[in-house]
Amino acid sequence: MDLSKHAYFEGKIVPLSEAKISIAAHAFLYGTSVFGGMRAFWNEEKKRLFVFRPYDHFRRLLHSAKMMSMKTGYDEESLIQVTLDLLRTDNWKQDIYFRPTFYKADLGIGVRLHDIKDEFSIFVMGYEKYVKNDTDAHVTFSSWRRVDDNVIPARAKVAGAYVNSSLIKSDAIQSGFDEALVLDNNGHVSEGSAMNVFMVRDGALVTPPITDNILEGITRRTVIELARRELGIDVVERSIDRTEVYIAEEMFFAGTAAGVTGITKVDHRPIGRGVMGPVTTQLRALVDDAVRAKLPKYEHWNVAV
Ligand code: PMP
Repeated sequence: MDLSKHAYFEGKIVPLSEAKISIAAHAFLYGTSVFGGMRAFWNEEKKRLFVFRPYDHFRRLLHSAKMMSMKTGYDEESLIQVTLDLLRTDNWKQDIYFRPTFYKADLGIGVRLHDIKDEFSIFVMGYEKYVKNDTDAHVTFSSWRRVDDNVIPARAKVAGAYVNSSLIKSDAIQSGFDEALVLDNNGHVSEGSAMNVFMVRDGALVTPPITDNILEGITRRTVIELARRELGIDVVERSIDRTEVYIAEEMFFAGTAAGVTGITKVDHRPIGRGVMGPVTTQLRALVDDAVRAKLPKYEHWNVAV
């Protein structure tokens, strides 16, 4: 993995090798940190790096922190400033992924959320694809269920909850699939291991509502806006049953790391004609242009480094 030379750690930019937390830190012992998964994209024509929707990502991160009773001392603007300072330090000229994290930093044991000091860090890495077959993924329904809002909120990006995602992902890969779809405790489709999901049924784009134990994805929001405005497609947020997936015309995942990943087979059944369909193909191209600051109408999403 191509890691950054520098990190933002407890209030300043330091060499990555100095950004270390103790084995006695609360976040290490109990998974009590919240994080963002963000990307910046190199635009070759403009010779500039653009961070995609940082305001929305940091807003979600601050909401995750709030659910974990954290006092962060940051707002969206100050988090964007810190990010730009860090990205400029290493002078990145390629697509990158970065990981801002608020974590419970006090040392020692004690299961709780209150009265613990919170700290903040960011590190950066070169971007690597999350799903290898991103135009013809074969996915399966996981035997694992999605964490429930009343157990560990999927709405928050809590580090500890990614045990659920890790069980799902490894199970799928080790069984020979590219990814998995995950049902929630009500038996409805929630999302993939770390990305939201969409299907096309009777020409409309359908995605699970935010009340079906999903992360409120920024890419999901981007896809919904682009589908409505640029393609004029109906977008419906409603619960999805397992067998609806088998008879969908198209399916795809959407996430920061996954981008728009075409799903062409589910549990050995072809989706539609078994190749990436027209809606997925168009949205994939639109999202790719949007993240790279190539859609003038949506340039407010792109913050230049
Ligand atoms: N669901 C989960 C569980 C995720 O980890 C992610 C990745 N952050 C997503 C969905 C997609 O969200 P986003 O588009 O904001 O990256």
